[in-house]
Parts: sequence; structure tokens; C-alpha cells
Amino acid sequence: MNLYDAHNHLQDAWLAPHRPRVFADLAAAGVGRVVVNGTCETDWPEVAALAQENSVVLPSYGLHPWDAGNRTPDWQKNLLTHLDAPPPHSSPSFHSPRAAVGEIGLDRWILDRARPDDPRLAGLRRAPIAEQTEIFLWQLALAAERHLPASIHCLDAFGLLHDLLRAAKLPARGFLLHAYSGPAEMVKNFADLGAHFSFNGAFLAPRHARLRALYAALPADRLLVETDAPAMRLPAPLEKFTLPPAADGSAINHPANLAATYAALAELRGVSVEILAGQVKSNFNKLFDHG
Ligand SMILES: [Zn+2]
Repeated sequence: MNLYDAHNHLQDAWLAPHRPRVFADLAAAGVGRVVVNGTCETDWPEVAALAQENSVVLPSYGLHPWDAGNRTPDWQKNLLTHLDAPPPHSSPSFHSPRAAVGEIGLDRWILDRARPDDPRLAGLRRAPIAEQTEIFLWQLALAAERHLPASIHCLDAFGLLHDLLRAAKLPARGFLLHAYSGPAEMVKNFADLGAHFSFNGAFLAPRHARLRALYAALPADRLLVETDAPAMRLPAPLEKFTLPPAADGSAINHPANLAATYAALAELRGVSVEILAGQVKSNFNKLFDHG
């Protein structure tokens, strides 16, 4: 079965020591294509290198809202250089965009709710929301202009995101709201603008019943599945693949756990995993791979 990971970070340093094993496990789990999202200027070359080495990788380049405050004055030029690079894999029968734009977005959680000593934010200047907005809109316009899909992160800023999307020129092929955790009432508003929504295995934790209900009811033609690996672990009993913890003791989400997420989501939606996989494959190709 061909499974598709709509959003991950396989370039991450946490996965680097395990790369051969990770790619072997992805193949064994039936994962056929993964969108690997760069988040800052220093990891864009690593995404490009992974895409050169592995044909399952669809590279995506963007400045993440967490990294927005640490950008260099050359960030736009650097981003364009990566987006303009020749496609890593070309085949006459496989029409693929050169790359996607992402991970981009808006995050008020880092400003209002994150602990000052959250280790994931160590060394990062937390860009105020006006600054995040400017950076997000520039990258979104770039995706629209070039007909590239955009992968969008949003925490605690769904009203603002909707206002901005409604007023902006959007990619004609649509965009992804990765691991969407906003209000159920806003799903239709976003979908009307071209949104796709990716279900993350972390939503299988007992405390996320609201999100499971939201994804169970989501229109089938807008549904995708993702891992966000090495972040966002599944509940431990559902993990079929594990990796040793990172050097600082943090637990790592193995991206091959995508298969377990598909199985659980199929059950939630009351369809077979084959039906779900066929629908997700078609959605993935429409958004990321064709045209
Ligand atoms: Zn991400």
C-alpha cells in the first residue's frame, strides 16, 4: 500500500544518526512519498541533500514562525535559490513541482503560552505577530505566484490566519493546514479557500477527542495524513517503530509510525484502510504532485 506523509522534518538532527534505518523502515511500512519541510535558512540545504538522495522526498522550503526572529537579511534570496534549484528527480511520466513552500505560518502560542525556558525555543528570538505576518504573507504570495503548494503551521491565531487568507492571493492548487487544531466551525471557511487538513498521530492521545471528532467529519477530498517527525509522537502503545531518545533525552517520533496513524484514522472514519489510503493518495497528488 502506498502511504503519503504530507508533513515531516526528516532533515532534523534528531533523525540524522538513524537515517539509513529510517528510510528502510519507511519503505517497509509502505510509505511512498513524504514532504520534508525546511524551517530555517540553515536546514534548507539539508532538505535539498535529502531530496537528492531519496526519491521518496518532496522538498519544501520555508521560514517557520518559530525561526522568523533569527532570519538573516538574505533570507528571501536564500529561499529563492532553493526554490529555483532544478527538481531533484525528473521522470517523463511523473510531473512534479520543483518544491513546495513551507513550513510557514503564524504562532501566538510561542508569544503568549510557551514557557520562557521551553528547550525547543532556546536561542530563538520570538518574533512578534506583526513581524510573523509580514514574513508569512511574503512566502504565501511566492507560492501563489509560482503555483506551488504551501504548508501552513498555525497555533492560537486561526482568526487572524483566516482574515489573511481571505484577503490574499492563494496558490491555485490549494494549501495545507498541517496538524490543524483550530475550531471545527472554521473548517468549512478554510476549505472554501482551498485548505487541506493533515491528521497527525499525536491526535490519537486521549485528550484530543475534539480533534478526532473534527477529523472524523472532515470532507474526504480535503484529508491528508502526516507525522511531523521527529516531533509529535503517537501514544506509546500505538508506536510500531521506535528510535532511541535524542542526546538531551527527548523522545523521537519515528516517521514509519505513519502506518499506525492511517489505521487509526480509517477506524475513526469508519472506512477500510485501503479506502482511506486511496483517497489520501488522490488528495496528496492533487495538492503536491500533479499540475
Ligand atoms: Zn512541522
